[in-house]
Amino acid sequence: MSVAESTVFEALESNVRGYCRSWPTVFDTASGAWLRDEQGRDYLDFFAGAGALNYGHNNPVLKRALIDYLAGDGITHGLDMSTVAKRRLLETLRDTVLAPRGLDYKVQFPGPTGANAVEAALKLARKVTGRQAVLNFTNAFHGMSLGALSVTGNAAKRAGAGVPLVHVTPMPYDGYLGAGDELHWMRRALDDPSSGLDKPAAVIVETVQGEGGVNVARAQWLRELADLCQARGILLIVDDVQMGCGRTGPFFSFEFAGITPDIVTLSKSIGGYGLPMALVLFKSELDQWAPGEHNGTFRGNNPAFVTAEVALRHYWSDDALERATLAKGARIEAALARIVAEFPGVSTRGRGLVHGIAFEDPSLAGKVCQVAFDRGLLVETSGSVDEVVKLLPPLTIAEDELERGLTVVVGAVGEVCG
Ligand code: PMP
Repeated sequence: MSVAESTVFEALESNVRGYCRSWPTVFDTASGAWLRDEQGRDYLDFFAGAGALNYGHNNPVLKRALIDYLAGDGITHGLDMSTVAKRRLLETLRDTVLAPRGLDYKVQFPGPTGANAVEAALKLARKVTGRQAVLNFTNAFHGMSLGALSVTGNAAKRAGAGVPLVHVTPMPYDGYLGAGDELHWMRRALDDPSSGLDKPAAVIVETVQGEGGVNVARAQWLRELADLCQARGILLIVDDVQMGCGRTGPFFSFEFAGITPDIVTLSKSIGGYGLPMALVLFKSELDQWAPGEHNGTFRGNNPAFVTAEVALRHYWSDDALERATLAKGARIEAALARIVAEFPGVSTRGRGLVHGIAFEDPSLAGKVCQVAFDRGLLVETSGSVDEVVKLLPPLTIAEDELERGLTVVVGAVGEVCG
């Protein structure tokens, strides 16, 4: 019986459900870069929990640490109490991530989700500056809570929310807007009193827009944006919820541009094992919170602290994962170059282990994902009209698994476009 005909999902679960429609089966177990459904069919994962599983499913190193922690009656729910698990995480974050990069950041635990991190970042920026406006970019995505939606330039994600968009400016990326005067509009609007643009508290940006269609900001543009913000006393927030934790190669996605944001949001893969966790990092002079001023019941997910700590120590004490990610990314680029050469109306972009295949005819992207599913590969669409196939395998995927998935992707594009 197929899921479409069936059962409690259709009868009871809201119509809002999404992935179960693209991938109409019932999944049961998962390991590394593979999921298995209850019929025993295996699917290769080029989706990685929407970026929450950079280290793969049930990563054995993290699983061992989690089992040991639970077996020893470790704290599971800790609000923002001081715990041994949190102390270890903070020490490892400092020693493996912050200190080697010279980052003088304070750390806030805002709650379990990326949206929680974005909300806290926006609130802090407004509180510290005493200003309200936040500039954001076309196609941006920052989460589904109402504050986060107010800075989400992606109209498809905002639909029905009823919150006014704060301010949106075009974000340039390869293939969209020429180089050179990309921040011109923003400068003009900031300088022109008749523009109606109040001096903003912050600018929020993804260095690669994940949900927006794998739009890769250029390093020079990010540097100019950071300079512009600094010169005018506007805080720069980099939302690294999806692109952080090594997705683009380095631990933080902004490192390639040589910028230091004032505020950084992390979630998804920071918990390491797919366990909910988020962080807000900010320059220490911005730490103007009063005790308890921002809170949330689930901001102390200690099992996630355990897996986060082990993931940082295991994968970020040296640059092996970064180098492997960049090498695998180059392999993806080579495979996708063949598609671009063969099929007009198809273009690609990406960095590290996030790549997009964009179709001039948006309906083709969804068809490619369907063909891929039929051939045992999970891959999803992104972009404002779902015109991009987004490749997001776990960073730990083996080379032969990567090749296998790429063969399916190239074959699916060939079938749909040929
Ligand atoms: N920011 C970015 C850049 C994201 O990609 C996402 C999730 N796709 C979020 C924020 C929101 O995270 P969450 O779904 O955990 O609230």
